Formats: sequence, structure tokens, C-alpha cells
Amino acid sequence: MTVPGRPGRPPRAARRGPRDILQNRRRESVGAVHDFAVQDRQVLGDLATWIADRRTSPAAPRPARSARLPDVTSTGIGIKATWAVLRDLVLPTAFPTDHPRYLAFVGGSPTPAAIIADAALSAAAVYGGSELEAGDVVVVERAAMRWMCDLVGYPEQAHGAFVSGGSLANLSALVTARHGLAAPGGGVPDVIVASAAAHSSIRSAAAIMGCRVVSAGSPDRPLGAYELTAVLDSLDPRDVVAVVANAGATNTGAVDHLEEIAECCEVRGTWLHVDAAYGGAAMLAPSRRDGFKGIELADSITIDPHKWLFTPFDCAAVLYLDPTVARAAHQQRAEYLDAVSHADDDNPADYAAHLSRRARGVPVWASLVANGTDAYVDAVESCLTTAGYAAKQIADKPHLELATEPHLSVVLFRRRGWSPDDYARWSSRAHTRGIALITPTTFAGETALRLCFVNPLTTRADVDTILDSLEQDAPGRWQAS
Ligand SMILES: *Cc1c(COP(=O)(O)O)cnc(C)c1O
Repeated sequence: MTVPGRPGRPPRAARRGPRDILQNRRRESVGAVHDFAVQDRQVLGDLATWIADRRTSPAAPRPARSARLPDVTSTGIGIKATWAVLRDLVLPTAFPTDHPRYLAFVGGSPTPAAIIADAALSAAAVYGGSELEAGDVVVVERAAMRWMCDLVGYPEQAHGAFVSGGSLANLSALVTARHGLAAPGGGVPDVIVASAAAHSSIRSAAAIMGCRVVSAGSPDRPLGAYELTAVLDSLDPRDVVAVVANAGATNTGAVDHLEEIAECCEVRGTWLHVDAAYGGAAMLAPSRRDGFKGIELADSITIDPHKWLFTPFDCAAVLYLDPTVARAAHQQRAEYLDAVSHADDDNPADYAAHLSRRARGVPVWASLVANGTDAYVDAVESCLTTAGYAAKQIADKPHLELATEPHLSVVLFRRRGWSPDDYARWSSRAHTRGIALITPTTFAGETALRLCFVNPLTTRADVDTILDSLEQDAPGRWQAS
């Protein structure tokens, strides 16, 4: 007899049985693991030094995995040995996102103030879901959220919540957009119209919601009203959950024409969500702010402080022009929540698809308070300047060419004469040698390299090192350094 199952899933007989985790149990350890013993305190001291030193004298990442790691046993190996394993074997194999030559995807380089606040938040065991328990932690998060709302030009009543990532922020915003809507034939609307360059998380959100995505425009150019109108005119507006526009497309950095898109949505009564997960930070730069005109007209906005606003993972913000709709869509109700479900409570849990949560706004707030916003403006401008330097060098070098004019801090370019395999080999060599993390992408149907600058510690010398290594014919002949 064949047992139905998912294709590719190993038959039950072939799966390894669980080990008996309660084997050899020793008693009398209750309480001991929760006390801070002398050893724990010593390791905490070492940790503080390690945190501060890894920025000033970073070790080259060693991505090769060969270490023999300790097993989970009934007695444990103690914190000293465990910390040594983490510090010397586990963590060095990760390519940290704050490395000055981590230029793949979208990196992130948290400030010391944000790191300290983040560590304190873990230690203080704060439940960040409701005012009842979190006290002024909620007040502090509200202040951070208010600052984010000011950044995008949202009015006083706007509000939102800090969540785990742009993916959850986008999902939460789209669920809010659909709340209370009814489709023509009954049921709920199920079409999300998204800029063709929308992040993959929009499709993922649509799949979770049982929606389909209709793309507008081209992935290689910013979306405008002309292309969006053509798509919206082909649909019944009552079937449409929302329009999703980009303010900083992940692949190209391009900002859609937000003002005309907002107008297009306004006349149809369609919810506009702007995904500014990566790009939103650039609104801090006086040189770029104009390019975001119209973002303040969006019904909801995503911005990830863990990308370009110098906050540790994980921290994203979902902002709502009218937070009452978000609350109606997301607030969970149950007998055991009666104590926290008063109409006048401001509970961060109520504005997204979550309940228990880390108070992720605290590191954002602490770093803003500690450093002041001028430091943020300078840090963002410096990333934009480094991106501009890279683009100029690329344009000047005969072996390289820009794939397109850079948008925000993303630079797409090509090495003349290289095949997709050449790019892959070069990228892999740079990674495994701990020199740089830069991955190929596709632009206008062809392979290209993509540099995304979100770390103010990335220097012109870092850019030169990378571009020089592309000069040789054989990909990946990195000079020993
Ligand atoms: C990174 C990104 C996301 C997803 O954010 P996560 O924090 O990785 O979940 C969504 N949209 C855009 C535009 C992004 O750049």
C-alpha cells in the first residue's frame, strides 16, 4: 500500500528516530542555571570587550565550515567553553553585515548605542506586546515610531509598530488594507497590484493571504501613473486589495513616481502601500528627499531600521496613516487578554500580525537619542557619496561599465567580457577568502554585479580593492592581502 504524502518527503521508516533527551538525568540542578555565577560574570566582561573590539579590529570572516562543534549533552560544558566556541568557531564563519565590504543584498551596521540598548532589552526580559507590562518601554517605542512618521511626513494621528522584518511589515500592511473590504461576488478582494520591481515578500504575503499579484511596469525602471493606470483600468477596483509601490527597489534602488501613483489610487479609493524597507532612510538626505515626494499620501509604509538606519537585526517598521484600521485588523481577542484589551490602550501588539514581541523600537530610540539626528543625516549622506564614488570609478575604467545610472546607494555594473559563470566564480572566491561579499544579480535580462552601500564605514579604499580585483582576466585572482 502506498501512503499518500508530499513528494520528496522521506518515508516514515527512513526518518531518524529522536534521541532520548532525558537520558542520564541528574537532579538537584534547579535554580543553578538561572543564577549569574562568577563564570557568567567573567564571560559578560569578555563579551563587552569583544563587542567593542570587533569594530575597530575586525577579523577577516572565515566562511569555511570545518569546526567540530560540541553536542548537546545532559550535563553541558559550561558558559566559558560555550562562549569560546561561539566566539572562535561559530561566529567567525558568518560574513557580518557590518563588514565594510559586505555590499551584497542590503547589509546593516548598527551603532554602539543601538547594540547596547538591544543587549539590555534581551537581559531585561521585557514583553513588548502591551503597555500593561512594558511600561515606558512602550512610550519610548512610540517616540521612535513618531520619529519614523515625521521622517515620511505623516500627520499626528499616524502610528504603527516595529516588527521582525520588512516581510512581516508588508504582510501586516496588506492585511490591514484588505480589512473590511468585500469583493463584488461576496468574499474578499484578492488582487494585489505591485510595481514590477516589488520585493519577493509581496508575493509571499499574497500567497499567505490567498491573493494573486498583478505586476505593473518594468522591473528595470521606476513605475509611473501611466503604466499603473493601464493595469488598474483592466481590473474591477472592488477586487483590488492595494497597490504596492517601491521607494527604493531592492535590486536597483529606484524610487517609483509616488505622487502620481498616489493620485491614481486616490481617485479609485484604492489603498496605497509604499515599500521603503531599504530606501526610506534616504529621506534623511537633503539631496534625495525630493525624490520621495508623495510618500506622505500612502496609506501604509514599510521601513527597515535594520537596513539603513543602523539598528541590529531584527527591526522593521510598519507605519499607518490611519492606525485605527490596523488595530481593527490585527488586535487579538481572548479571555486571557481581557486585561490588555481596553479601547484606550496603546499596545504595539495591535498593529501587526504578532502578539508576543521584542520591543524592537527601543534600540532605534536609544541610538537616535544618543547620537542625535545630524549624525544620521551624515551617515546616510556618506553612503550615498561612496556609492557615487564607486559609480564614477566604474564609468572611468575600461574593463567595467555601469548597467544603469545608480539610484540611491545601489550601483549595478558589468565586467566587460565576463560570462555569468565568471561572475559567480569571482563572487565565491571573494566570499570564501573573507575579502568581500558581493553577489551577482540580473538587470535588463543580463548578469550584473550589484553594490549596495548602507555602511558609513565602507571607504573609497574598499571600493578600489573590489574594482581592482575585477581587472584581471581570470575571475577571482584576488591578491593576497
Ligand atoms: C529587504 C526588503 C524587504 C524585506 O525585508 P526583510 O526585513 O528582509 O523581511 C521588503 N521590501 C524591500 C524593498 C526590501 O528591500
